[in-house]
Order: sequence, then structure tokens, then C-alpha cells
Amino acid sequence: MTHTIGVIGLGNMGRNMAATLVKKSFTVIGFDLSETACKQAVEQGVIPASQLSILTEQCDIIILSLPKAEHVEAVCLGANGLIHLVTAGTTIIDTTTSVPETSRMVAAECVKRDIAFLDAPVSGGPAGAAAGTMSMVIGGDMKAYRHVLPVLEAMSSTRVHVGDVGAGNIAKIANNMLAAAHLITTAEALTLAEKAGVDPEKVLEAINAGSGRSAASQAMFPTWVMTKAYDSGFTMGLMRKDVGLAKTLAQSLNVELPMAMKSAELWEDSIHKLADSDDFCCIAQCTNPLLFG
Ligand code: NAD
Repeated sequence: MTHTIGVIGLGNMGRNMAATLVKKSFTVIGFDLSETACKQAVEQGVIPASQLSILTEQCDIIILSLPKAEHVEAVCLGANGLIHLVTAGTTIIDTTTSVPETSRMVAAECVKRDIAFLDAPVSGGPAGAAAGTMSMVIGGDMKAYRHVLPVLEAMSSTRVHVGDVGAGNIAKIANNMLAAAHLITTAEALTLAEKAGVDPEKVLEAINAGSGRSAASQAMFPTWVMTKAYDSGFTMGLMRKDVGLAKTLAQSLNVELPMAMKSAELWEDSIHKLADSDDFCCIAQCTNPLLFG
């Protein structure tokens, strides 16, 4: 495959995805509104585009890694957005954790111009993006998915095509709803053990050998919470956004999710203690500031 790949959004995830593609011999052109983000990507071999049109002239596969749905909508459908710039036959791979309805709406506009749009949100954090070992969930046209598969394979170790466009984000929202709750319940389990006089480090080891384990207990707590490093590269602001996406989706479908709604309330309330820029693992400090602070 000789495509030149465009990456729009060169933050914690986009920059590392772009760097991985460079390492795997793709030519990558990157665009970001932030000069710092562009500079960091250039250091990793990404060719910077000073404007979107420079990127779209050379790329027929374009990856988005933007904070929220509103950014995806603006970049794709805005006055100077992608649908006005890209050539027919282009495929847009949106790795943003976004609103399923936005994915569907953008895809519908794209299809009118013979542009394919896949929603393909990711798991694995900046480290997974840098190692090319992310997990991706993909929604959208199977022909478009097959067309870009070599690019997805270069960035990820697992891929699940879950259905039509929007399904990728529904799967990702369900996943992050669990991840958000697991962080809190793991902090509560270790708090309970500590109050009962048992070493939380030992209890974490026991949980990871037992049925209570999760990515929170196996990766997040050992790497970022117990070490107090709190440098995962995923922010409170982005996790609050994801928890909000789950809540909105549940409400729009009239689905009652009492446990998830309690978790959402705790994530929302954390705004009084933790800034959007803080690491998402800091949520453990809301349960037990002495143990995890
Ligand atoms: P980030 O804030 O680090 O990066 C986003 C980048 O997009 C920034 O550099 C910003 O300047 C750029 N941007 C915003 N608007 C733009 C525009 N109009 N044109 C060009 N660039 C623009 O965010 P991130 O942590 O890289 O996350 C990106 C997405 O991936 C989010 O949806 C997030 O929820 C999801 N995600 C993040 C992680 C993680 O661990 N960080 C893991 C899985 C999924």
C-alpha cells in the first residue's frame, strides 16, 4: 500500500498513531491547530501541513484524533471542512471517542460526495498508540473497512468491526462506561481492605489473581495510581466527556442503568476537586485522598 496518510489532531493519541505509521514506512502528513503538537509530531517524522487543504491534496486516507464530536463535525462539515476539500474516493477514519449520531450525520454528508467515513474509536492510551497495539472498534461500510485495513493493522493489535457507522462509538462508550466505574470500585475495594487493616498492595495482587480484576486493577492502579505517577496521558476532562456520552445515550434510549448513573454522578461531582487537565486516574483520590493522593 503506497497511500500517504493524513492525521488531523496530533495530541496524546494522534501524535503517537502518526509516529507508529511513520515507523511502519507510511508517509504521514499531520495537521493540528496547536503549534506545540505539530512540533512534537515533526520530531517523530510527521510532515506538517500548515493548512488542511495541503493535507487533503496529498492524502486519500485521513485519520481524525480530535477531543470531541463537535471538533469532528467542524473539521468535516465546517465552511472549510474536509467534505469541501477531499477528492471522491477518500476514506476518513475517525478515532475520536464521539457521539454516534454525529458519526452517522457526518457519514451521511460524506457519502453524498463519494467519501467513506468510518467511526473507529480506540483503546490502549498513548502507550498503545506509540506501540501500534491499540484496540479499535469500527463502525461503517465493510468495503471501506477492508480498503483501510492495512492502515488499521499497522496501528492496532485487535480490531472488531461492530456494525454500521456509529456502532464503533456505541461500543466504545459502553467500554468506557465500565472502565470509569471500575476505577472507582477498585479504589473502594482497596479502601475497604485498608480500613480493615490489610495492605492494599497485597489486596490488589489478590484481586488481580481473582474474579474482581479489570483493566483498572491490572493496569491503571499498578501503573498510575499506586505509584502516584498519574501520567497516563488521558485526562479527567476526556473521561468526564465519555461518561457523559454514556449517560446521554442511555437517556435517549430510556434505558435504566442505576450503577452506571451513580458512577456518572461521581465523575461529574469530581469537577469540584479535579481539573479537566488532571489525569483520569486521579478519580481514585475522590474515594480516598489519603491512600491515593
Ligand atoms: P488531546 O487533547 O491530547 O489531543 C487532541 C488534539 O486535537 C489537540 O492537539 C488539539 O489541538 C487538536 N485539535 C482540536 N481541534 C482541532 C481542529 N479543529 N483541527 C486540528 N486539530 C485540532 O486528546 P487525546 O488524548 O489525544 O484524545 C483524542 C481522542 O481520543 C479523544 O476523543 C479521546 O477521548 C480519545 N482517546 C484518548 C485516549 C488517551 O489515553 N488519551 C485513549 C483512548 C481514546
